[in-house]
Amino acid sequence: FSKSNDAQYILDDIHRQFQFSPEAMVDITGQFLHEFKVGLGDYNHPMAMIPTFVTGVPNGTETGTFLALDLGGTNMRVCEVVLHGDTTFTLRQQKYKVSDALKTGEATVLFDYLADSVDAFLTSHPPPSSHGNGDPFSQPSPDVVHLGLTFSFPVEQTALDSGKILTWTKGFSAKHAIGNDVVKLLQDAFDRKHMHVKCVALVNDTVGALLSRAYTGGGCMLGAIFGTGTNGAYVEDLSNIRKLANDPAGTRGGIMVVNTEWGAFNNTRSHLPSTPFDNALDRLSINPRFQAFEKMISGMYLGEITRNILLSLVDAAPKALLFGGKTTPTLNAQWGFDTSFMSGVEEAWEGKESDKGTGANPVPQLSAFDHPEKLDSTVKARLERVRAVLVKDLGFKEADVSLRDAAIVRWASSLVARRAALLSGLAVATVLIQTGRAVLSGQDGKPTKNEPRISVGVDGSLIEFYPHFEDTLRESLRILVGEEVEKRVNIGMAKDGSGVGAALCALQAIKQL
Ligand code: ADP
Repeated sequence: FSKSNDAQYILDDIHRQFQFSPEAMVDITGQFLHEFKVGLGDYNHPMAMIPTFVTGVPNGTETGTFLALDLGGTNMRVCEVVLHGDTTFTLRQQKYKVSDALKTGEATVLFDYLADSVDAFLTSHPPPSSHGNGDPFSQPSPDVVHLGLTFSFPVEQTALDSGKILTWTKGFSAKHAIGNDVVKLLQDAFDRKHMHVKCVALVNDTVGALLSRAYTGGGCMLGAIFGTGTNGAYVEDLSNIRKLANDPAGTRGGIMVVNTEWGAFNNTRSHLPSTPFDNALDRLSINPRFQAFEKMISGMYLGEITRNILLSLVDAAPKALLFGGKTTPTLNAQWGFDTSFMSGVEEAWEGKESDKGTGANPVPQLSAFDHPEKLDSTVKARLERVRAVLVKDLGFKEADVSLRDAAIVRWASSLVARRAALLSGLAVATVLIQTGRAVLSGQDGKPTKNEPRISVGVDGSLIEFYPHFEDTLRESLRILVGEEVEKRVNIGMAKDGSGVGAALCALQAIKQL
């Protein structure tokens, strides 16, 4: 090998580690499906398949006015949602900061703060005296306001309006909360303040996405999040949720929404090949060996995997392959290279020409950069834009970033994002197969459901903003379930899922009261 051949070999080898053959994808989907069935049958599996006690899906004709409280991110939100009954809604909201002191102090103090915020919201956004039907807040008695709580932490749900907090995540560690019913903690805080607010429903954000898409889009079979993390909730036949066989809720027949917690697929490391770049991320994460699937897919992690690839090329021996061996504080910092940088790089590459490609991205041929003056002028313009982004976002001096460096960073970004999107498609395909809407490629049998339009509601910055993410997810569906089914899959954003979904869930809860 000459030196330049060595460099090419290193890139080709990394590229190879991120590829899946169609046969491997089919095989992994079969294992994903198996994990679904195991999780539906029993408790305490990584693929938790949590029954949500949501037993109906809206169709857009629902009406009413509800409050929603959304806790799970940096900000807490209180919303008033008015469902107009014609697939449209109006939402008024206010965000409130949750300080570190509240996140880590006594649970009662945190829940008192939530109640105070709802109180402040009601004062600053008084309910309209009438929404046409004289029934603001759909109250049975004139002064009770119904509220749905979107709580994006692991809970063991036992009814629509109760669930035990299993663990805190995302920097929360409030004391005396774990093991308690989150709805009761909140209701007790409302009651301590003599507020006329009743929390009637507890909702996961994926379920919220499913319900809100069903309301605005006239039905929905899967709600999926591709944001900071990834997860999906889908509509399952109750008879398939075998672990509810001894629960009164399980014997009624009909359907129930199941929160898959699919981010935990591959926690056993037996399904997906991981690269040294994945392993480095996992080892330094706060939850090594957990959420393995999520770590290959979601916004919190893709930048870090890409950063690990880039640093390995900066450090390559005997000769640096990237940035002349230099780095910057941003590139050196764990989590310093955000997934939105990758998006920025790909957007710069596409520019106004917007090559409506599929996200496919071959390895850069390094020999082409031995004579940069001979590069195609369009390619050169694209690479110059990428170089400008790297200078701006990573803090490099212009002279430290060559066009070859720009080509390598763009390749590494789309390599990691493409694997993420293919695996996202694999999760969606698993739900299509599980619900009888598709048959896994190469297997016998026919789908039992053949709707003209299969509706999937999605939320999250990755699917909303990452160039070609949905195209690549669809490429995966074509491989796994065929083009005929893929064409019928309608993927739409479930905007305000946590607010509207909580309202819809509250509506369902009061119908069941
Ligand atoms: P959440 O899932 O917390 O509700 P988001 O859906 O906005 O919030 O997801 C945030 C994640 O998305 C972050 O990990 C961030 O890195 C990533 N992200 C933010 N902007 C973009 C973008 N333009 N393209 C791709 N990923 C992005």
